[in-house]
Amino acid sequence: MKCALVTGSSRGIGKAVAIQLSKDLGLHILINYSSNTDAAKETLAEIESNGGTGELMQFNVQDAQAVQSIISKWQEENPDKYVEVLVNNAGITRDNLLPMISEEDWDAVLNISVKGMYNCTQAVLRKMLRNRSGRIINMASLSGLKGNPGQTNYAAAKGAMIAATKSLSQEIAKRKITVNAVAPGFITSDMTSDLDEEQLKHMVPAQRFGSAEEVAHLVSFLASDKAAYITGEVININGGIYA
Ligand code: NAP
Repeated sequence: MKCALVTGSSRGIGKAVAIQLSKDLGLHILINYSSNTDAAKETLAEIESNGGTGELMQFNVQDAQAVQSIISKWQEENPDKYVEVLVNNAGITRDNLLPMISEEDWDAVLNISVKGMYNCTQAVLRKMLRNRSGRIINMASLSGLKGNPGQTNYAAAKGAMIAATKSLSQEIAKRKITVNAVAPGFITSDMTSDLDEEQLKHMVPAQRFGSAEEVAHLVSFLASDKAAYITGEVININGGIYA
């Protein structure tokens, strides 16, 4: 049974991606999250109400040992299942001007996005290589392409994800595994709930924030067979902001 592991799928973009991958591709969804079990259960309930299947898989993506041991144990207990699609979506912001960014906030932002991507990819890649099939989609950001004042830590994290996407895609293309990054602009979610949408939407040519579902449709396409010849790309989804 083909599965998709979607990190940070208890809420926001990850939740929409988990639901869409189940609907479009019939994948069994591994719903990863950090601490919000109730929200993760809501993601699962929505998948099941659409006729899909999934299960919760709690771990902190920063924690290499936890990621490795939980995924290995799951694999041992489920020999009939394998991760065909990995969406490295978990991410946080800790915005501030650089002189005010604490070491803790620098590390947290980098570690969740970049180390999390490394930890989760390493835990599933060997099997994809053996299967000669797989999809890896990394959730980057407009900030990682153009930079953004007050987001040096976040831009560094997302820029690193983009560079890693390009490198890894070239390493493993011959095994029929694609690696792409998606770079959203302003998307309505808990992450952007403190922003003044009424004011900021005027910076967007489309004059609105995007929805998590719109990002999910793009991820679902990249995860599908239709996208087999797209790899090493960074795809913007930002309502027309020039990146
Ligand atoms: P969100 O609504 O804040 O959701 C974040 C998700 O990540 C939650 O499911 C959370 O789990 C999980 N998470 C956080 N830290 C984690 C950790 N250490 N281990 C495992 N899971 C963790 O964020 P979002 O807006 O959906 O953003 C999703 C991704 O898109 C992020 O990578 C973000 O940088 C990127 N992005 C977002 C926007 C935007 O405008 N929203 C724009 C560009 C890029 P819990 O529920 O357990 O806390």
